[in-house]
Amino acid sequence: MSGTPRPAGEHLLQGDQHHEPALKASSDDARALRRRLAWAGAIAASYALDALFLGLFALAGVVSGALVASYAAAAAAICGLTVLAYRRGWSLTSGGAELAEPQIVAALALQLAVVWAAPQLAFPWLCNIFTVFAFGMISLSVRESLVIWSLVVAGGGAVLYGKAAQLGVPLATPGQLVLVWLFFAAILGRFVMLSVYAGALRARLRESRRRLAGTLDQVQRLISHDELTKTLNRHSLVARLAEEKNRSERNGASFSLALMDLDHFKNVNDTHGHAAGDEVLRGFAGAVHEAMRQTDVFGRYGGEEFLLILTGSSVEAARDAAERIRAAVGSRDWNSAAPGLSVTVSVGITSFRKGDSIEQLLKRADNALYQAKRTGRNRIVTLDD
Ligand code: GH3
Ligand code: MG
Ligand code: MG
Repeated sequence: MSGTPRPAGEHLLQGDQHHEPALKASSDDARALRRRLAWAGAIAASYALDALFLGLFALAGVVSGALVASYAAAAAAICGLTVLAYRRGWSLTSGGAELAEPQIVAALALQLAVVWAAPQLAFPWLCNIFTVFAFGMISLSVRESLVIWSLVVAGGGAVLYGKAAQLGVPLATPGQLVLVWLFFAAILGRFVMLSVYAGALRARLRESRRRLAGTLDQVQRLISHDELTKTLNRHSLVARLAEEKNRSERNGASFSLALMDLDHFKNVNDTHGHAAGDEVLRGFAGAVHEAMRQTDVFGRYGGEEFLLILTGSSVEAARDAAERIRAAVGSRDWNSAAPGLSVTVSVGITSFRKGDSIEQLLKRADNALYQAKRTGRNRIVTLDD
């Protein structure tokens, strides 16, 4: 693409891109912080619901008011410390993505402490351990889950052993019964909500994976194709040549090259302008695509030079194909590029011979093209030795 000047704005755009990664990183950080704070809010609401139930159990005469106050204070301390850690960025630097492990250990210890202090509430309150695990399932790793599970099994065992005689379910009055029932409902409700949330996360993940695959396709297209003509670029053509060469050396099937160069193309630019030149390049690529076999490989080798790799073709077959292309280009209506314009192409053809390097092969095609130019243009020259 030697002769293609850049659009005026492109340098500016590229200059701007230097600032982009820093901006993106800080907006990613801000978004991560918002997500963590929202999560901390959900956890705080869950603690508040527990405290409310403990308060109701206190009113129903099951636990003491002091226990409610202690629970609320401990929960507030855990939530406050978490938010402080997020705001200070500790979680961003400590490697623990969401500070999940310490939060969950603290929450579980608190639930076991309630059971220890109020064993008469043991059976509904032990179920609250599931609530904590439900919050944990989204952020814990397998290792963390196993460690926490072991701690809870040990702690739960200690509570059961230490308080065996007093463990119970508060069902003495209809009010207590309703409260236990509602408490189960609240535990289940949080479970359901967190499952729905996990489902939404999975859906978001699927969507972003789909978008990423799309972007990857786009990037691959950008690096393998020429922007102007949408055909393969030189890099891809050389890679395909190497593939064909390997295949040929393995199974002996021959292939040919047609190196094509538009005739007096500089005149098109000089007479009709660069935009008309670009239009001719696009039109030429279109004409070749219409005339070539779908199994052949075509692309822009550079400037106004194109390369067609004719797989499994002898020099004679390649010559026939090139003749079709030459005729199609010559008879094409180029009025859309410039009124009255006619375009011709010269083609140099050679075929692969065992032992050829890619450079030798291209050099032969280039020599053939040179002869086509020297002997009058708008013609095909084959060079097979
Ligand atoms: P010949 O018949 O000997 O090939 O003559 P020519 O004028 O085609 O060859 P020359 O190599 O002198 O000129 C090639 C021209 O192709 C010069 C360059 O400006 C133009 N060119 C290369 N890339 C592009 C492009 O992307 N767009 C346009 N419009 N012109 C291009
Ligand atoms: Mg030319
Ligand atoms: Mg040229």
